[in-house]
Amino acid sequence: MTAKYASGGLPELVSSPGNFIGGAWEDREAAHSDVINPATGQAISRLPKSSRATAQRAIAAAAKAQAAWSRIPVWERAALCVKLASAIDERVPEVARVLSMEQGKPLAQAMGEVSKAADGFRMNAELVKYMTGEVLPAETPDRLVITRRYPRGVYAVITPWNFPVNIPTEYLAPAIATGNAVVWVPAPSTALVAVAFMRVLAEAGLPDGLINLVLGEGAEVGDEIVANPGTHAIGFTGSAATGRRIAERGAGKPMLLELGGNGPMIVRYDADLDTAAKAAAGGAFFNSGQVCAATGRVLADGRIAGELAQKIAKLAGAEHVGDPLHQGTTMGPLNNQAVATKTADHVNEAVAQGAKLLAGGKSLPELGSDLFYAATVLTDVTPDMRIAKEETFGPVVPIIPLEGDAELMRVARDTDYGLSMSVFSGDVETAMAMAGELTAGIVNINASTTYWEIHLPFGGGSGTKSGAGRLGGRHTLEAMTEIRMITLPQRVLC
Ligand code: NAD
Repeated sequence: MTAKYASGGLPELVSSPGNFIGGAWEDREAAHSDVINPATGQAISRLPKSSRATAQRAIAAAAKAQAAWSRIPVWERAALCVKLASAIDERVPEVARVLSMEQGKPLAQAMGEVSKAADGFRMNAELVKYMTGEVLPAETPDRLVITRRYPRGVYAVITPWNFPVNIPTEYLAPAIATGNAVVWVPAPSTALVAVAFMRVLAEAGLPDGLINLVLGEGAEVGDEIVANPGTHAIGFTGSAATGRRIAERGAGKPMLLELGGNGPMIVRYDADLDTAAKAAAGGAFFNSGQVCAATGRVLADGRIAGELAQKIAKLAGAEHVGDPLHQGTTMGPLNNQAVATKTADHVNEAVAQGAKLLAGGKSLPELGSDLFYAATVLTDVTPDMRIAKEETFGPVVPIIPLEGDAELMRVARDTDYGLSMSVFSGDVETAMAMAGELTAGIVNINASTTYWEIHLPFGGGSGTKSGAGRLGGRHTLEAMTEIRMITLPQRVLC
């Protein structure tokens, strides 16, 4: 397929954007909002701000589709996922361009994200075919007890703006593979790329109503799909604060909640400092730091903290911040004003309280908009500073020098968050022992906090603000189905 680009550089794929409900594109909304390119500050499109009534129609459409879809054999559901994967493969440049222009990440990274979405559909097609139930022994001799997995029904899926194609794929692909239907509300600041992605899936032959896209404010249409009794389960990725509200509003429904993090990277005195520095820079600057598993803070043994900080600062200086559509750009702008303000506040407050700035520490409006922020390295950060305690979600490495393993562990564990952590050490046995004591869903030894693959279990540690459940591979497929126990009579021939 040859990509066509209209004026302004947007592909025709998004030339008449709207909601997608019951297999039809529509815009019946009274209110609209502009789509802003964060690299220029300019409006590039306009999208409907949908009403609760629209979300309710989408739920009804999903319910109708799901009743039929749940009866489609799993091999056919898997075949659809493969077809969707091929369609995504063909449209990578177009979808990636919208992603880059709306979210702000460099085009090459956007291409990688869209390609990965095709992999996600293919992986779910493979795995779903081999899900199994059980035959269980029973005390009662004349009962045969089996378990089978059934779809949950209509999924309410709400997604954030930092990976606006990959994160939706983590829900949409396993949901339809297992026989569910979906109503999807994407984040408003990346809703145009949701339209592009939805159009690719729709044009590839998605059955009407199986995935419905509703654009608008989370507090309005997101809340509707969470609380409405017509949805049966929830998939949510976003902040801890919104996750908590969703848990309350959707109480009683099965939920996958993938929330925020503030990943510590622990660097022991015996670590390879070049490897650790690269991991810290990669973990904090990738996607301009707007990653839930980002390296939010580096806890470094005091004996090596200074040398490590210098190495990370050198890597920060090598980042090419600029237009995401330019080849060679490694960091684009932040996506929106809220995250830019939080990043600047965290950095400025830390400096005012005694942290030392080794690199960056300022916005770069000369690059095209106020949302560009330099790759930043701070040292002499203390654990009580806001930048150390809260999720920053910007391109910042705060380094906290500490004395010895006991202090490193105490500070790493003293957090509300528990998504991804990492330990750097030349002594893998000690690192492994530390991993066992950390309160996180993921611990990477001698690798960045951001290490991730689509089939691996991803999620927050229990009792933390980072969420509940595991996303990835068979874990999502299992979460999106419910086990039904069926018992039947049996006779033993003798
Ligand atoms: P957010 O919580 O502000 O918004 C997430 C989504 O929720 C958006 O689509 C928004 O419109 C919607 N929403 C807002 N209020 C709502 C309400 N009352 N009811 C229903 N929906 C509502 O988060 P964000 O700023 O878009 O994303 C960044 C956050 O997401 C960070 O905290 C990041 O760590 C987290 N995140 C987590 C993971 C993970 O896998 N754990 C992955 C990516 C991002």
